[in-house]
Amino acid sequence: MFARKGSKGGGSTAHQDGEALRLVKVTKVYGQGDSAVTALDDVTLGLRHGTFTAVMGPSGSGKSTLLHVAAGLDRADGGIVRVAGAEVTARGEAELAKFRRRRVGFVFQQYNLLPTLTVEQNTVLPLKLAGRRIDRAYTREILTRVGLGGKLERRPDELSGGQRQRVAIARALVARPAVVFADEPTGALDTRSAREVLGLLGEAVRTHGQTVVMVTHDPVAASHADQVLFLADGRIVGQMDAPGVDAVAERLAHLGDVYESGVQESRPYQPNGV
Ligand code: ADP
Repeated sequence: MFARKGSKGGGSTAHQDGEALRLVKVTKVYGQGDSAVTALDDVTLGLRHGTFTAVMGPSGSGKSTLLHVAAGLDRADGGIVRVAGAEVTARGEAELAKFRRRRVGFVFQQYNLLPTLTVEQNTVLPLKLAGRRIDRAYTREILTRVGLGGKLERRPDELSGGQRQRVAIARALVARPAVVFADEPTGALDTRSAREVLGLLGEAVRTHGQTVVMVTHDPVAASHADQVLFLADGRIVGQMDAPGVDAVAERLAHLGDVYESGVQESRPYQPNGV
């Protein structure tokens, strides 16, 4: 199911043969005693390099927690997280921050750009923070790819929402991360800008071999992915390959019936190789 060799002529991603992301029996509990909430309940999954995965589920099902724990932004209470073969869960804070800057990209719903920095400065900020050499030609190539080649000196408040999100995508890609995590990246955008942003994420995967994991509640956004993982109550309860908009919407509507098998093209999730 995750065996697709996705990097058509990409070559920019290391570890082509391994997995971009692996979670083994990951749990996350917020609070204690009677008020404890199990946000992730024994989650195991594996994503190959060069794949585009959407994560969907009802509000409170654990989507954001999954993304944050997988990206090393939040700590698991149990289990193992590996990004491009390197264990995230075993690291101390400082080492984890360093690892995130080198190996992980983020795209958030609200862009998270610094208002005083230009487009180009925002794009290279993670590289600067990581003390890495800034490849100006590659930065401009990425900014051109996302359609901002002519706007390098603009500041975020001179850009539309769609353009701001494209800066955020450039910023995520420029560090050549093993995985780009996107949390509702189109949530604040109009339909046309959303389509452009999804097109860019898809192109990063299909043309450049990038791996993308995207949380979304929108079946149209999910249909841009290669596969959808469905979450309910902190568990992966289903998976769909080559998701169509209607099939995703129908599956979402039935997520309460977690083991229901009558919905076309969806089946209980079985992570490969575990
Ligand atoms: P989703 O992204 O699917 O809406 P979340 O991952 O945000 O779900 O939340 C999963 C569950 O964990 C929810 O019940 C939520 O209330 C709880 N939760 C998330 N973050 C916290 C937190 N910081 N403290 C306490 N409970 C939390």
